[in-house]
Amino acid sequence: MLKEILDRMEEEAKKRKAPIFLHNTRLEPYQILIATILSARTRDGQTAKAVERLFSKAKSLEELAEMSVEEIEDLIKSVGFYRIKVRRIKELARILKEKGIPDNFEDLIKLPGVGRKTANIFLSYIGKPAIAVDTHVHRISNRLGIVNTRNPRETEEALKNIFPVDLWQRINYVFVGFGQTVCLPRKPLCDECPVSDYCKKVGVKKEISESEGK
Ligand code: SF4
Repeated sequence: MLKEILDRMEEEAKKRKAPIFLHNTRLEPYQILIATILSARTRDGQTAKAVERLFSKAKSLEELAEMSVEEIEDLIKSVGFYRIKVRRIKELARILKEKGIPDNFEDLIKLPGVGRKTANIFLSYIGKPAIAVDTHVHRISNRLGIVNTRNPRETEEALKNIFPVDLWQRINYVFVGFGQTVCLPRKPLCDECPVSDYCKKVGVKKEISESEGK
């Protein structure tokens, strides 16, 4: 049931060319950390442009660490709070260059600019079981009625109890793609939604069975 919901959402989001599915270039793990930091409080399109500009100039972690604050600022100033982010990126690049990239949650969240969401996105990206909850995941899970939570942290815990581990990696990108195209923040396209029959917001017609993964 939960897999079917994810499948339907992914198919629809891809059909509608959700921005998250349009990036063909596979980023390096360190680039995923930086890109997620850049994405905070910034529109997807602006983040994508800044990421492309930054990594077409800085071809490696070493090159990024060597760049000046001014150079990086010039490349990423389309994103929100870019002055703060530049300093975090500089410091992050220096640490990663010296110590390597951690592959566990506890060490990741000690890095500058890396919070819970960024750490989970990174862990998912490198194939570790994690659920990254951003604004799309939090909003859509609650609208559907899969969870009833007040904040992303609660949503993350609730989703971990509901979804089987083998689906965790898909949750973020499917929900983001679906949130970019169908379950929009202000005016969701409920009349065109492929999972409306499961959605609490429009009146559930099919019950989502609980705890499939337990
Ligand atoms: S029916 Fe509407 S609110 Fe529910 S998941 Fe679909 S688009 Fe979102």
